[in-house]
Amino acid sequence: MAAEWEVPIESGPIPESGTDFDVIVVGGGPGGSAAASYAAIAGNKVLLLEKREFPRDKICGDAVGGKSLRIVTELGVRPLIENTPHNRVTGITFSSPNGKKITCSLPIEEIENKEAGYALPRIQFDYMMFQKAVEHVQNSGGAVIQNFNVNEVLVEESKGSKKIIGVSGIIGSKKEGLELKFNAPLTIGAGGYNCPVASTVTKKCHGEPMRDDKHYCGAYREYWVDVDGINTNQEPIEIHFIDGVLPGYWWVFPVGENSEGKVVVNVGIGMVISEMNKRTVKLKGLQNSIIKEHPYFSKRFKNASMVEGSGKGFQLPFGSPRKKPPSYQPRRSAMSGAMCVGDAAALVDPFSGEGIGNALLSSKIAITYFDKKKHKDGFPSELAEEYMNEIWNTLGPELSNSFKIQKMVKKKWLMNWVIGKANKKPELKGLLEQSLSSKEAQEELKSTWKLLKLLLF
Ligand SMILES: Cc1cc2nc3c(=O)[nH]c(=O)nc-3n(C[C@H](O)[C@H](O)[C@H](O)COP(=O)(O)OP(=O)(O)OC[C@H]3O[C@@H](n4cnc5c(N)ncnc54)[C@H](O)[C@@H]3O)c2cc1C
Repeated sequence: MAAEWEVPIESGPIPESGTDFDVIVVGGGPGGSAAASYAAIAGNKVLLLEKREFPRDKICGDAVGGKSLRIVTELGVRPLIENTPHNRVTGITFSSPNGKKITCSLPIEEIENKEAGYALPRIQFDYMMFQKAVEHVQNSGGAVIQNFNVNEVLVEESKGSKKIIGVSGIIGSKKEGLELKFNAPLTIGAGGYNCPVASTVTKKCHGEPMRDDKHYCGAYREYWVDVDGINTNQEPIEIHFIDGVLPGYWWVFPVGENSEGKVVVNVGIGMVISEMNKRTVKLKGLQNSIIKEHPYFSKRFKNASMVEGSGKGFQLPFGSPRKKPPSYQPRRSAMSGAMCVGDAAALVDPFSGEGIGNALLSSKIAITYFDKKKHKDGFPSELAEEYMNEIWNTLGPELSNSFKIQKMVKKKWLMNWVIGKANKKPELKGLLEQSLSSKEAQEELKSTWKLLKLLLF
């Protein structure tokens, strides 16, 4: 029998071309599903457009961090997750290039309060987010279209100023599909790293670059079973700093179980694209050499097998601060008629690679700026500016700190030293453990001074 997240989602009748909505959301990933849900809950008539059909895979490490929990709960998705196989993340094992290991456990009270994050395949998580979004959107009189590729973002120009007024695209195949066009005073760009709304906001309307290789990351993922040392799907997730992979890292995340009851492990590798280009590295080959040749990991994978067809690569747009941004940090993400969220706004953490939490949070924030009565003639540019400032004020400090840590991690000797020290200093290990859940501890950990004090004294 098919699992509940393997059944196609019925998304209802397709609206006629030319229909007006209050809000159009481009992309039905976590960001787009959250934005569509919040907009619908606020009473807007929403159109949610998704290029693919659910269930669909999304290449990811599959860790849904603590930051996402409040939003996942607010939207009614949490019970759905709890009822399917998942890993409640209660600890992280780190290892340094010289092979030293440390396991940090989440404080027990956090686990009891169920504030720990999850690791579960995105095919499940995204399905549940999208399914809830369909429910919210339909309840408020909106519509959802799957298999709809937005290929043009409509821009109106008057007296030198530009405004996004809707989108057009094709349902079905490129050759035989039906072209449809929709209008709304607000379009939300949630189409991920290559979002058409984001490229219209940056390149087309403002002549600013959308992509910067110094702040884009390449990543490659495979699913494996029978990995030695992982006997249940409740084991800690693992992050390994390996020579040749730094400043990136190699991850091994238990994420659930397959139909035979075997633990499924998400195994992957990520590296900043400018760094990959410098070294002409191929991530698939790098991961293969770790699994086959690394003195420690090759033993753990000796009897393991890869899930067929699961090896795929994708990109992550980091939210690290740009040295000389042409306008906003990390890049322009809104204008009259449009706001971008999640990867479309380049909000992925430049150290951990986490982007789901920021996709959900930016979506929630974006919708608070829209008022269908006041903005019926178009979402104003002044509010677009306020949105971009609020996003950077909220997320800028942690994204900037993570960027500093990303730079630190480049140094092999430093990683050996930090993990060696954490093994010997209970205070440092304690802070690392606290930082898995507490915002205050994360701030402390990200304070260079506090970290140096703990390491040196
Ligand atoms: C290998 C890898 C590992 C990662 N690991 C983690 C992790 O462990 N934890 C974490 O938090 N984050 C991780 N991330 C980052 C995370 O995947 C993203 O930050 C997150 O998916 C962003 O959500 P989003 O909704 O903004 O975009 P997406 O999830 O990319 O969703 C975009 C959606 O838009 C649709 N779309 C695109 N173009 C169009 C179009 N033209 N018309 C209509 N629809 C369109 C797509 O089909 C897709 O469904 C990882 C990323 C990679 C690549």
